[in-house]
Amino acid sequence: MPSESVQVLCDEALAGLSPDRAVAMSERIDAMLAQPDLAPGDRGCLLSARAIAAQHFEPLSEVRRGLSEAIPLLESSGETAHQVHALTSLAAVDLMLGEYRSCMEHAVRALSAIGLDEFDSASPRVTGNLSLVFNEFSAFELSYHLAKASFDSVVNNDPNGLLLMAGFTFARTITEAVWHDDENATAVRRLGEATAVGERLIAEADRAEGSSKLIHLLSGQLILAEVALLRDDLDEAQAQIGLALAAPEGSQPLLQGYVYLVAAIIDRRCGRIRNALTHLDAAEGPMATEVHHLDRILAERAACHAALGEYELAYQQASNRADAASRRYGRSMGAAIEQIRARARAEQLGIALTERNRSDALTGVSSRGWFDTSLDVRSTNDDDIAVILIDLDRFKLINDRYSHQTGDAVLRRIGAILQDLCGDENHVARYGGEEFVVLPASGDVQASVDLAERIRSAIESEPWSLIADGLTVTASAGVASGAAAAAEATLHAADVALYRAKAEGRNRVVARGQALS
Ligand code: GH3
Ligand code: MG
Ligand code: MG
Repeated sequence: MPSESVQVLCDEALAGLSPDRAVAMSERIDAMLAQPDLAPGDRGCLLSARAIAAQHFEPLSEVRRGLSEAIPLLESSGETAHQVHALTSLAAVDLMLGEYRSCMEHAVRALSAIGLDEFDSASPRVTGNLSLVFNEFSAFELSYHLAKASFDSVVNNDPNGLLLMAGFTFARTITEAVWHDDENATAVRRLGEATAVGERLIAEADRAEGSSKLIHLLSGQLILAEVALLRDDLDEAQAQIGLALAAPEGSQPLLQGYVYLVAAIIDRRCGRIRNALTHLDAAEGPMATEVHHLDRILAERAACHAALGEYELAYQQASNRADAASRRYGRSMGAAIEQIRARARAEQLGIALTERNRSDALTGVSSRGWFDTSLDVRSTNDDDIAVILIDLDRFKLINDRYSHQTGDAVLRRIGAILQDLCGDENHVARYGGEEFVVLPASGDVQASVDLAERIRSAIESEPWSLIADGLTVTASAGVASGAAAAAEATLHAADVALYRAKAEGRNRVVARGQALS
């Protein structure tokens, strides 16, 4: 056992502290650490308690250093209870820093020190930290039960002021499980428990003083906003996050960053994408060193860019996310990382397809971005695809001889002709300037050649002189088909065919290099 004065000080430091009290506490511990003849066990207890208190105001790397120094001292002097506190706090800090290997190692060491059946009697701080660790590794049931044990032990009797920590952890355990799998009925049912926690923290704010009041209030509102978001109750989510955003900037940048992140998610869900990106910028500052949150910020950014039709940026953010994860987990997790990357990409594509921004303003057919996305989606199938590339003949001359406005009128009319002939089933998009692309519903080459021929002939016989006296317009087309998975190669083959059509005199359709008309 540590000496009595050390034990008293450590008990105080391990209680729930407001940031101001945490600073005062660490100064008192520093004074005691300066004593020359401290026993190793006492030194370990003090170092550990100081680091835990300092989480409120010091960089996590410093906290980590303090805990790492304390653990061997605690181990060699048999201070098991303090050692478990230090190990689980260190695991939680590792987690935030993305140091997954060492997080696991510390959690396992703590577990073997406690004994697997002793959870209920462990301190709420210990079970709370372990629940965060298991949550991150997707062991949601274990995480829920640990967090519940932590919360239950303080909800009616909280001599050490740990309600905030235990409650916030418990609520997050529940919401994270639903974020992860919103089809899981058990997880969804538990949202009611998270609401009760949020309301309890808000009620607690009435009793609290100073910075502690604001922290309880923000935490409660955040929990209620996240629950509302998960229940698709956007009005309620906005109301709660509005209150949190209106609060004065507190001394808790992490919590404030979290508020901005949830505000961004709500903005995006309400279609205010630019606001969402601004809120993500605000969240990223305070959360930049926290890998778990940074991951969510990247995922949100990807979703926002996809919603704006900025597919390149969306993919970039999704890739950054997969890269960051792959650096963290190391190469042994390579296969899993590829799955994450593929899933992130598929999710972004799914979002992209449900958003607007899909049509080209001048011609009314789909935009290039929309086409690329559709092609990516199609390329995840096994079937063959066909592609028709269409390029207007000598279009530059039309601009030069008539006017750019006339050229635009021709492009508008071409858009209408293509849409008429392609219908809903064959996807048509503006590929670039005066080039169009059709992704026919079927991968059959002959059917696609027939469609291309109907398009060519319709363009040739359109009464263009209604737009300008003497105006004629023709188009050339290249057709190719191939495995959906090799869409790029198929597009290239269609391009080669189109080039042949031009070289052979224009106003014709060529399929895979073979002249057909
Ligand atoms: P080719 O038969 O070989 O395809 O000849 P071309 O003149 O059509 O070929 P080129 O690709 O050199 O020229 C395409 C022209 O299309 C150049 C560009 O000014 C014009 N163009 C591209 N986008 C638009 C647009 O939105 N409006 C108008 N009016 N013209 C455009
Ligand atoms: Mg061209
Ligand atoms: Mg052209």
